[in-house]
Amino acid sequence: MRLAAATKQGRRPKAGKDTPSVRIIQKPPVLTERNCSVARTVGILSDAWAFLVIREGFFGARRFEEFRSALEISRATLTDRLRRLTREGIFREISYSETSSRVEYKLTKSGIDLYPTFMALMQFGDRWLADPKGAPLQLIHEGCNCVSKPFVSCSCCHQHVVARKVSYRDGPGAGKTPIEPSRRSRRTADDFMRGRPSSVSRALEVIGDRWSFLVIREAFFGARRFDKLQVELNIASNILTDRLARLVERGVFKKRKYQSLPERFEYLLTPMGMDLYGPLIMMMAWGDKWRAEGKPPLILRHLDCGNDFTPTVICNRCGEPIHATSMKYRMRYNPDKFGGTKSGRAVPGRV
Ligand SMILES: [Zn+2]
Ligand SMILES: [Zn+2]
Repeated sequence: MRLAAATKQGRRPKAGKDTPSVRIIQKPPVLTERNCSVARTVGILSDAWAFLVIREGFFGARRFEEFRSALEISRATLTDRLRRLTREGIFREISYSETSSRVEYKLTKSGIDLYPTFMALMQFGDRWLADPKGAPLQLIHEGCNCVSKPFVSCSCCHQHVVARKVSYRDGPGAGKTPIEPSRRSRRTADDFMRGRPSSVSRALEVIGDRWSFLVIREAFFGARRFDKLQVELNIASNILTDRLARLVERGVFKKRKYQSLPERFEYLLTPMGMDLYGPLIMMMAWGDKWRAEGKPPLILRHLDCGNDFTPTVICNRCGEPIHATSMKYRMRYNPDKFGGTKSGRAVPGRV
């Protein structure tokens, strides 16, 4: 599809009397993608190192050396990610003291607000990907003092939200924007598993890189076939083939033959793939709130209650929304290696 587009846009005008015989410099075609709050959020989280740095922020890391020892990350990479995440407003730098030039990195409000998204990813990871010993973390909701398994719910009726019970329509921010070349392809999925055992890592490892994520998103928009996915995403066919094969292997899609001559397949979300809907719409909610300038590209309607809604992660015991400041955790692994304690509070201390 990319090739076809290039030929069309780069066509030369017919030579005629008035046409100077200079060589026309062909501009590369401008590729666009759907405005999407999920993609904006995935742009941050699909970089494995960036994600891991944010996660350690939730475990209380603030100083450069704390991040470094928990993740065994090189200085150069850590410096780069902290700088980038600070520029993106996820962390802010604060001085150790008035006399020191050194800084700590503190999650900002928008950074802390990624917590419910992490919870949605974590619950997905716990449900589908945890090892037989059980989930690495147990969560305790301070609001009700119960062991909690938060879930993604409708902000109106507070019921669990599943993909087939949601309709969508364009919002005020709908449209297309050019794809930034640097973001077109990056594959760092293998790095997600570094550091501490984590269901969020497992979930992101299954989702993979940004392209894989966009393929999953299009599946929720109803795309099943190779050609359709290629048109919607402006993706090179070798990359699409690679990502589909990987997503089938990880159990997100199953492949079904719909034509014999020539042989053609379509890709259907498995029950596990369908369950990615919760994390996906939580990422969307975060992107709508922090990256869409008040213009959400998509409006969701919950068919069970008939209302437009904002996806919200709530406690399964008391039904209250989950915030980073109201959750405690207990680890089921030895935290010594990662510079933490066996139990604690998400975002310890003042926010
Ligand atoms: Zn509802
Ligand atoms: Zn609760």
